[in-house]
Amino acid sequence: MSKDIKSPANTTEVQQDLDIGNNIYAKSYKGQHLPTAPGRHYCVVTCMDSRIDVFPAFGMHLGDAHVIRNAGGSARDALRSIVISQQYLNTKEVILIKHTRCGLEMFTDPEADAMLEERRGKQALETVRQAGSGHWHAFGNQKVDEATREDVDFLKSSGCLVDGTEVSGWVFDVEKGRVKRVA
Ligand SMILES: [Zn+2]
Repeated sequence: MSKDIKSPANTTEVQQDLDIGNNIYAKSYKGQHLPTAPGRHYCVVTCMDSRIDVFPAFGMHLGDAHVIRNAGGSARDALRSIVISQQYLNTKEVILIKHTRCGLEMFTDPEADAMLEERRGKQALETVRQAGSGHWHAFGNQKVDEATREDVDFLKSSGCLVDGTEVSGWVFDVEKGRVKRVA
């Protein structure tokens, strides 16, 4: 780490907490002997939501599975990572978990397009479209259970998964901390 990064003027509170927290974590870190491929051969696709503590919430341990997170837990957004997970790192099952009170319920795709264009300009919108799949994958007025089922159907019919891949869809309730299977 350079002197610049360590100087207080350039260091945010979040960065300081990262360094302090990581220093404690590293003392008991046990990941060094685990292989690159996940031991239980599955991947979890879920939302970036700050209330979902993936490993304890879903009965997982270090080295078990890949965790792919994005806004809304979108299967389409995660497709690139799922393909790499399966083809190069031997996973055979996909667990898709969306959740209640998701930020993606707050707008529609056309609204997000208009928002970004208005705030950052046409070029910004074009860059986002080219960087990803060209959509926001917003739920809008769609219910989360329905959006989850639609994503599971998308994965099953995508033609991108290895033969025999098990795909299931779940919704995490942020009030209760419980998941229920919906697909
Ligand atoms: Zn969310």
